[in-house]
Amino acid sequence: MGDYKYNLSEDRIPKHWYNIQADLPEPLAPVLHPGTGQPIGPDDLAPLFPMACIIQEVTQEREIEIPEPVRDVYKLWRPAPLYRARRLEQALDTPAKIYYKYEGVSPSGSHKPNTAVAQAFYNKEEGVKKLSTETGAGQWGSSLAFAGNLFDLEVNVFMVKVSYNQKPYRRALMETYGARCVASPSNETESGRAILAKDPDSTGSLGIAISEAVEVAAQNDDTKYALGSVLNHVLLHQTIIGMEAMEQMEMAGDDPDIVIGCAGGGSNFAGLAFPFLGAQMRGGKKRQVIAVEPAACPTLTRGTFAYDFGDTAHLTPLVKMHTLGSTFVPSGIHAGGLRYHGMSPLVSHLVALGLVEPVAYHQTGCFEAGLQFARAEGIVPAPESTHAVKAAVDQALKCKEEGTSRTILFNLSGHGHFDMQAYMDFLGGKLKDEEYDHAALSAAMSELPEVAAE
Ligand SMILES: *Cc1c(COP(=O)(O)O)cnc(C)c1O
Repeated sequence: MGDYKYNLSEDRIPKHWYNIQADLPEPLAPVLHPGTGQPIGPDDLAPLFPMACIIQEVTQEREIEIPEPVRDVYKLWRPAPLYRARRLEQALDTPAKIYYKYEGVSPSGSHKPNTAVAQAFYNKEEGVKKLSTETGAGQWGSSLAFAGNLFDLEVNVFMVKVSYNQKPYRRALMETYGARCVASPSNETESGRAILAKDPDSTGSLGIAISEAVEVAAQNDDTKYALGSVLNHVLLHQTIIGMEAMEQMEMAGDDPDIVIGCAGGGSNFAGLAFPFLGAQMRGGKKRQVIAVEPAACPTLTRGTFAYDFGDTAHLTPLVKMHTLGSTFVPSGIHAGGLRYHGMSPLVSHLVALGLVEPVAYHQTGCFEAGLQFARAEGIVPAPESTHAVKAAVDQALKCKEEGTSRTILFNLSGHGHFDMQAYMDFLGGKLKDEEYDHAALSAAMSELPEVAAE
């Protein structure tokens, strides 16, 4: 059967993250203050984030050193393995070669601790006592709970209500690591109370939960906010995935033609793809780079590239990104981690530049691909990750049709062990393909802020 697993020795954990801002052909649009419409400075963000992360938002340095204590924690599960999916290739009877980087080996089962550990470290260094955050499916909340505990920080998590009810084990995991978790919208913040007053049965959304978490951080001196995706520093921390994968592909004696990741806020996709895209922008091999999103929350494929708020209550600065409108609440699909109205400004920028190709898939097709993957490779993908699996399968089948062999690399961002209800629903024929609500989208889009600086 040949080799199928490529692992680096511990001493080859990359010592730097890769900052794609150093290689962009055009710089990112500035982040704007919602009141003045002017670009914000570091001080505007200081109530929310540690200065080390704020600097990482804007730095143009190509390589950022990973602090020793962070690398030390990474050793608990990194380097993460790279696999050749030979049994999936056989099942598909494709001439394509399929590789995947597996981030499910982390303590919380996804890529998210890569940034949670870094953020907890920087906050601790700067004397912060408490972190406040939101979580969708619970992956981020449990990752920050794990990291916060290691660095002796108190962690408060606002969990989107639909997931809070669907995924009690994720909540239990957060509490196991010592964090506190409440359903959002909650009665603990003004933002939450305002939503509940309008709609007592609100299922919540990431946008609402972000408002609650930001409000708590803004109002408490000893508390900072931590975000699990979207922001430049978060994507930076995730590039450890692609840095490792580049070395592992070299070990395998191969080089991907197609690089794929699922995209909610864009962090795991960027983590794998940015080091490859950077090499391309510096004159290296050109690759097809695909970001996969759910058809029920089609930010990159149906959204507008415009300035918008990151949250529903409009407490965040304005960032230029693909957006469905900050008040858009996506339907309750199982891939909770992909239900965000916006997208990372860096990923949006690269889509606008034509360097990244977005696609959207319905959830039943994704679960079908996830099942096929589980039966061939043994690992049960997280519902979010099935979107990347589906795109890899589609590309492999396209190779079969065309009789060409291409090398495909995708990120398996996490395992689905906490999401088995979703698989039960799929196996029981209960999963529906949710179309997004066109009227709700138009309404949300009509509320996009007007920005003079564009
Ligand atoms: C959170 C999550 C995602 C989506 O977030 P990104 O920032 O787009 O990576 C994808 N997969 C898994 C397993 C997740 O936990």
